[in-house]
Amino acid sequence: MTAAPSSGHRGLVMDEPLLFEQDARGRTGVDLPEPEGRAPRLGGLERAGRIGLAGLSEPQAVRHFTRLSQKNYAIDSGLYPLGSCTMKHNPRLNEKAARTPGFAMAHPLQPPRTVQGCLELIGALAHWLATLTGMPGVAMSPAAGAHGELAGLMTIRAALTDRGDPRTTVLVPESAHGTNPATAALCGYGVEAVPANDRGRIDLGALGRALDGNVAALMLTNPNTCGLFEDEVIEAARLVHDAGAFFYADGANFNAIVGRVRPGDLGVDAMHINLHKTFSTPHGGGGPGGGPVALSEPLAPYAPLPRVVAEGGGWSLVERDGTGRSCGRLRSFHGQMGMFVRALAYTMSHGSDGLRQVAEDAVLNANYVMARLEGAYNAPFPGPCMHECLFDDETLRDTGVSTLDLAKAMIDEGFHPMTVYFPLVVHGAMLIEPTETESRQDLDLFCDAMLRLMERARSGDAAWFREAPRLAPWRRLDETTAARRPVLRWTPEAGRPVGNDRPD
Ligand SMILES: *Cc1c(COP(=O)(O)O)cnc(C)c1O
Repeated sequence: MTAAPSSGHRGLVMDEPLLFEQDARGRTGVDLPEPEGRAPRLGGLERAGRIGLAGLSEPQAVRHFTRLSQKNYAIDSGLYPLGSCTMKHNPRLNEKAARTPGFAMAHPLQPPRTVQGCLELIGALAHWLATLTGMPGVAMSPAAGAHGELAGLMTIRAALTDRGDPRTTVLVPESAHGTNPATAALCGYGVEAVPANDRGRIDLGALGRALDGNVAALMLTNPNTCGLFEDEVIEAARLVHDAGAFFYADGANFNAIVGRVRPGDLGVDAMHINLHKTFSTPHGGGGPGGGPVALSEPLAPYAPLPRVVAEGGGWSLVERDGTGRSCGRLRSFHGQMGMFVRALAYTMSHGSDGLRQVAEDAVLNANYVMARLEGAYNAPFPGPCMHECLFDDETLRDTGVSTLDLAKAMIDEGFHPMTVYFPLVVHGAMLIEPTETESRQDLDLFCDAMLRLMERARSGDAAWFREAPRLAPWRRLDETTAARRPVLRWTPEAGRPVGNDRPD
């Protein structure tokens, strides 16, 4: 490895400092004349001094964010094999539709009669989601999957309270995504884990034993986070309903079954849909997302507000619930309009047959990866998978190379690593979800890299792996120090956050 140049840059990849490290007080991107005769209007709350914003010229600010964006690996720069979290291409047609001025410029406080087209679009998307899930009620306002979970559980709680039967516990399989127990806890429920059987599915015997008069709901992901279809889901739903509880399905993996199976037919009472997963809208990096929740007949009256309804030849927003049964309002406004436009553009451009093919291709691609890697990697649950394939670290045993080392080496190969150490039920897990949008050539490049790395690991090159990644803008982070002594505020003394090794 050649030494880094004195600038810290590598070729045309800039070593980008923080905004505050580039700061020159007094420099500014805009020249505004000093206002004259300004009367304070903040009732004595005016700023006493400077607030210390970084001084930058306009090109500095633009370049800073452009360079940061280039350091970020994204679905637009390459394959993103994140298991259980569909990261697929956002067709540019969606973007074109979302930029239609009537949608892009609408303001959430406009009177409904001036945004009839927006409301109609939300209604049309809700109709598609109701059709695809086989569930009559769809609440559109939740902002993301986890928020949809919260909406679903609050709806369930409202229904149980209305029945005079408030309950205390939510059952969650051991392999569940962390948001499931977190949502149940946030809703005030105790969480009880249900073990998996040796086929990686929920253990029906254990489920039956756990179900009693205190259980409000079972939260189950199907296909589950091991990439397996819960083939006893109908029996599980029957057990849950016989115990007077509700069946919540985590719909994050809907990508694998959309157009093939309607969750309502399986006995599901509530399921969130991550528009940014199955319906291809961009993952927001914590920003705007969409997590509508679909509800069964018994739960629909308890849905959150507001609701978009067609009445009297137009569309209106129901902000209050005359029956008093709604679980309430979850957020400001009505959801993310731009996400709704993209999701509907995606849905309509595929049509019902196209959506079915989405699920089929997603499953085919995952099984292709599974078939290519099997042998070199060990699949703990043999047989075909759904939309993602799962390996453990069995074939790395005694090599001195860990799942983490291998994932870091994938960065040097030019790929975002797969999901590692999740689900927790598998030792050293590597979970790969290629999605339906990857071509066979790209899948082959990815698999070739995975196979080469396993060969290298088994040839006794553990020291090489521990140095990975070598070619990324940043080397391996000291995750322990970063977690124990996080540097959350930049100061000249603290300088760069600890643990960030610069590339050499
Ligand atoms: C992504 C995901 C969630 C949470 O969804 P967000 O939109 O990220 O809040 C929940 N469960 C599973 C299985 C997921 O993959």
